[in-house]
Amino acid sequence: MHLPKPLARLIKELNKLPTIGPKTAQRLAFYIVRSDYDKVKSLADALLEVKESIRYCSICGNITDDDPCALCSDPRRDKSTICVVHGAQDIIAMERTREFKGVYHVLNGAISPMDGVGPDQLRIKELLERINSNNIKEVILALDPNVEGEATAMYIARLLKPLGVYVTKIASGMPFGGDLEYVDEVTLSRALEGRREL
Ligand SMILES: [Zn+2]
Repeated sequence: MHLPKPLARLIKELNKLPTIGPKTAQRLAFYIVRSDYDKVKSLADALLEVKESIRYCSICGNITDDDPCALCSDPRRDKSTICVVHGAQDIIAMERTREFKGVYHVLNGAISPMDGVGPDQLRIKELLERINSNNIKEVILALDPNVEGEATAMYIARLLKPLGVYVTKIASGMPFGGDLEYVDEVTLSRALEGRREL
C-alpha cells in the first residue's frame, strides 16, 4: 500500500519506540491523523518539553527539572543511607513503598558483558565519590533480581567493603529474572525490610 510520505515517516518514528510494533505504530499514526490539531500539538509540545527541561540530578542521577532533584534537596531525607538502583524508574517503584527515607543513586544500567556494558559505563565512580566525601552509613543495593543485577551488586559490594560502609541487598520475595520497576510495592517493601548484609 502506498502511504503519503509524512504518514509513512510518522509510522517509522513511532515504530522506533519500545514495545511499539509496526501494527501499533500504524494504529497510532492513523489515530493522530484523525485527531484535532490542538490535541496533536499538545502531544508534540509535551515531547519537546520533556527533552528541553528534564535533566539529570548532579548528585544522584535521577531525572529532574531542578538540580539537585527534589529528593536530594529534601531536608527530611536521611542523607547517610543511599539506595542504589539501575534507573530513575526504580526510584518511582521504591518511593511507592513509602518505606525508604534515605536518598538514591542511579547507576544508569547494569553490568552486562553480553551487551558490552562494563562498570566504567555505569555511575559507579560517582557513587564512590559520594561515599568518600559524605558520611554514609549504609548502601542498600536495590537492583534487578536477574543475572546482570546480581553481577552488578557483587561488583559494587566488593568495591565498597574496604571503605567500611555497611552494604546490604534487598531480599527475598523478588521473583528471579524480574524487573524491579514492575515489582508491586508490598513485595518491594518486604524485600527492603528483609535486606541482608553482603
Ligand atoms: Zn538527586
